[in-house]
Amino acid sequence: MRVRAAVLRQMSLPAPYAQSRPLSIEEVEVAEPGPGELLIRIHAAGLCHSDLSAINGDRPWPLPIVVGHEAAGEVVGMGPGVSDIQLGDHVVLVFRPSCGGCLSCTSGRPALCGPGGESNGSGSLLGGYKRLRAVSGATGIGNEIDGPLNHHMGCAAFSEYATVSRRSVVKIDPDLPWDEAALFGCAVLTGAGAVLNTAKMEVGSSAAVVGLGGVGFSSLLAAASASARTLVAVDLLESKLEFARSLGATHCFNAADPDVIEKVKEATGGGVDYSFEMAGSVKALELAYRITARGGTTVTAGLPNPAHKWDLQAVSLIAEERTVKGSYIGSCVPTRDVPRFIAMYRAGQLPVDKLLSERIRLDDINEALDRLARGESIRQIIMMH
Ligand SMILES: [Zn+2]
Ligand SMILES: [Zn+2]
Repeated sequence: MRVRAAVLRQMSLPAPYAQSRPLSIEEVEVAEPGPGELLIRIHAAGLCHSDLSAINGDRPWPLPIVVGHEAAGEVVGMGPGVSDIQLGDHVVLVFRPSCGGCLSCTSGRPALCGPGGESNGSGSLLGGYKRLRAVSGATGIGNEIDGPLNHHMGCAAFSEYATVSRRSVVKIDPDLPWDEAALFGCAVLTGAGAVLNTAKMEVGSSAAVVGLGGVGFSSLLAAASASARTLVAVDLLESKLEFARSLGATHCFNAADPDVIEKVKEATGGGVDYSFEMAGSVKALELAYRITARGGTTVTAGLPNPAHKWDLQAVSLIAEERTVKGSYIGSCVPTRDVPRFIAMYRAGQLPVDKLLSERIRLDDINEALDRLARGESIRQIIMMH
């Protein structure tokens, strides 16, 4: 079927994106689902910092590619061999498919699925299939040549429809509005998962979140749900710090303040028990590490550029019994955690609907990228239909 989708053909075009237009909205051909695959009518898709990283070249993917990895939609087609899902089911897309059979999957760590990582890296669906083609002559920039298009993290969600692996989706309760549901695919899994799964933050501990986007704010809400006795928010934008205060942050600091580390330490009696780096830079990781108390845990989930290295004082790990943990998809088991976090949301413990900022059309995606790059929005959601 022919659908409209956002295609990235060239990385690292300069901002403002409203002018350079890195994403062209084109007609593309979505193939019927193969064995173990589903056709999803995408209803809502969130714009995440990882999409920006694909566009600005911080995280290169095979090109050309249909971008988008945080979405919710309805199952409208099924390939052979799918027996545990029905037409009409509502699903959240998860940006790393889990094969269910590799050592990571069978050890309860599907976020680290080997075949899922391989297919994501090659821009294909689980199993290596590509179900997207550019349509020659369709309106758009630079698409004179037709040919296969890559799938962004098994989702390619900035599209009216997407063929995905069954193992890239989690079924959800149909009562949840589409825009809210989409958040659970990346922002909430990654942000709340880092706090509740990776750090296993104990009730009543102190915590800090460095970097307030959709993921960072989800971490903040999760830390608040764990009754953090002190909850520190750090960001470069005063408007975000103010918002953090309204969500439960007890102390807010601007990362640009040259004395920020000393100030956090002073406010928290020597640092926090758990610190979460959600900004995607080594500078933020360094800050998060230094505001962690002796004996504390620093969790990093922000995905800095792969070329960047962190200069760590190794002895501090030992002499101060520090822990540093990476967190991918919040160490989540999506089939367990998507329903769990939705239940917490419904109980009022994770009010993630507060993170929804603008609802936009697919055609306005380049302008939305500018707002994301400037840090003006928390979660912009594309309503597809
Ligand atoms: Zn994301
Ligand atoms: Zn696996």
